[in-house]
Formats: sequence, C-alpha cells, structure tokens
Amino acid sequence: MRFKDLEIKELVKNTYPCECGLVHDPKMERIEISEYGIEEAIRFILNKAKGRIMVISDEITFEIAGRTVLEKLKETKKDTVHYIMPQRNNIPVVPDDGTIGETLIRMPLGIDFFVAVGSGVVNDIVRIISYHLAKEYAVIGTAPSMDGYASTTSSLIINNIKESCQGQVPTGIFADINILQNAPYIMLTAGFGDVLSKYNAVREWRFSRDLNREHYCEEVAGLVWKAADKCVASASLLKKRDKNAVVNIMEALILSGIAMGMYKNTRPGSGSEHHLVHYWDIEFIKRGWIHPLHGNAVGVALCVICRLYDLVKAQLSVEVTDLNTENIENILKNAGCETNPKTLGIPKDIFHDSILYGHTMSSSKYTILTHLNKYDKALLEKCAQILTKQYYIDIL
Ligand SMILES: [Zn+2]
Ligand SMILES: [Zn+2]
Repeated sequence: MRFKDLEIKELVKNTYPCECGLVHDPKMERIEISEYGIEEAIRFILNKAKGRIMVISDEITFEIAGRTVLEKLKETKKDTVHYIMPQRNNIPVVPDDGTIGETLIRMPLGIDFFVAVGSGVVNDIVRIISYHLAKEYAVIGTAPSMDGYASTTSSLIINNIKESCQGQVPTGIFADINILQNAPYIMLTAGFGDVLSKYNAVREWRFSRDLNREHYCEEVAGLVWKAADKCVASASLLKKRDKNAVVNIMEALILSGIAMGMYKNTRPGSGSEHHLVHYWDIEFIKRGWIHPLHGNAVGVALCVICRLYDLVKAQLSVEVTDLNTENIENILKNAGCETNPKTLGIPKDIFHDSILYGHTMSSSKYTILTHLNKYDKALLEKCAQILTKQYYIDIL
C-alpha cells in the first residue's frame, strides 16, 4: 500500500502491508503540533490515564510548558504528581544512569501514566523509565531539536559510555507551535541539521542496496526524503521563525522516528554522518567535555560525508545518489547552521580519527565508511588527511 505521500496525522492511523514484503506499523496513536498542542495533550492524557499521572520535566522545560501542563491536569482533580530533574552546577541535565536512578528514587509509587515535557534528554529518560515500568507515556515537545521523539530507543550514558537502550515510542506526541517557534535558535538549527541528514541516510541505504542487495523500501525512504524536501523549501524562512518552517522541521523529525519504527531499523534515519557524531560524542564524554547539540553536529557531519563521497564516488562500482555538496552547505549556512567541524569545536585529531574509525560505531549498518575501511583503507586514510586539511588548515 502506498503511504509516502500521506500527512503525518493520517499516516499514524493505519498499518501498511507493503510491496517491500514488510507490514509497516507506525505504532502511534496521536500527533498534534498546533496552537492547541497543550490542550489536546491534556485531553489525550486524561483519556489514557486510568490512575496517577506523573509529569516529568527539567528546570527549563518546567517553566516553558511543564507548569502549565501540571496546573491544567490538577484543575481536573486527576491524581497528578510531578518531578523536575535538577541541574547541577548550571550544567544541563545529562541522560545518564545517575539521572535515571535519582528520578526513580524521587518517584512516588503507583504511577499509571507518564508525561514527558521537554525534548531530547527528558524524552529519553521518560521513555526508559516508563518502558521498564510497563506504563505508557506521552511527550509534550518544547523544541524541534532532534529526531528522537518517536524513537523506540534512548541514547544514554551508562558507566561513561554512550549506549542506545531499548525503550518504547510515546503513544502521543504534542507541541504548542508558539513554544516551538520561540525555542532558542540553536535548537532550531539543530533540528534542521538532523532533518537534512536524512538525505544521506537514504543515499547510503540505496548504496548498500545496489552493492550488497540489502533490503530497501522506497515508501519508507520516500517518507523521510519528502519530509526533508519540505523543510528545505521553507528553510529561508527559518531565521524569521516562520510558523510553517518550524512546523515542517518538527513534523520531519517526528516522521523520521516513525519511519525508523515502521522499518524496525534506523536505516531510514541515519547513516555515516550519525556515526561520525557518535564518535565525536564518545571522545568528548571520555574527556569530560560537553559535546555539541546532536543536530548541529549532525548537520556538520553531513557536510563532511558529502565531501567524502565527492572524493571517492568515481572509484565506487555503483552509482550513488548525488546530493550536490555545495548546495547542501549553502542551504545549511543560509539557515544559520554550522557546516565546519573546526568551528563546531571538534578538535583536529578527533575529527581525523573519526573518518578512520567512524565505521566502528555500527557493526550492522553498511556505509561509505564501512566500505572504504573494508576495500580501500589507503584511500580512506588519504581522504581523512584531505578532509582534515580542508577544514583545519586551508581557509574555507
Ligand atoms: Zn515497505
Ligand atoms: Zn539524529
């Protein structure tokens, strides 16, 4: 059944037996990104929760939306408790074992339904806690900054190592468009960078399909490709915080998560650009540094991988989808996004090594980094040198 042209609200209403041989299930009940996002969320939560509700936020997202959500739920006389994850020494909350443990210790017993108010970190933590307690949750997003809203996994730091941990999708995703529009601009550029990376995710999926006969679904790939196209079309309006530009990013981010869930694999949403970022994050965590916001790093890594393809595509045995590197870089720059790893703050040695060892971030996903490491290590090393020189020595 064709579904790549459906709007996100329609998409989640059905499951889709597909020509690719799979049955794609979005596993989501409700998505509402509008002026009425919070009101609709309250209605949904009251309908879903049979007992005590727990609202979880951090200090910032409590002020942005958490307090309103809590008050509106309490007005209904529904048994509602809340927890604000505290910042330590002005450092934003980290999605690690310590934060999860403390949240559990502070949690009253008998919670029936969880509400996450926030974006990346809050959602990642509530996803894991609700999953392990076998309870459902809904998320009220406060920024269109990353593609994990509809993911089944959370990226957590356990014993100082970043891991992708099994969780569950929220049953509902809600956001008030006015809140999204007023999010810090760095979070809007992060969301845009993460959305644009879907072009490379699909390119690499096709690359492995053509080279290794990997299973591929044009409908699922088409979903994320079209969502990225929609964001590019409205990108010039992002700096003005245009409503449609912001909604397009939020919907594309949610859709990317849904697409990965429908395919039961992260293929549609991430490729070697995410592996570079994963490598950078791990090296930063090892040194006790705070790594850049995920989507901003992904946007930069996308530019790096585009340049890598340009260096090697003539030597590949299959034709790869051409993304026009200059065009991608200009789209990102015009929207105010970072495109250079040096100015993003990635040290030269970490950058160089990420080209060589980025492939180790996934043993199952075949990317251009996997391919070069397997068949032409000398070329990969040469590319690492060329790219490092381009970004860290030459003036761009
Ligand atoms: Zn399919
Ligand atoms: Zn991402």
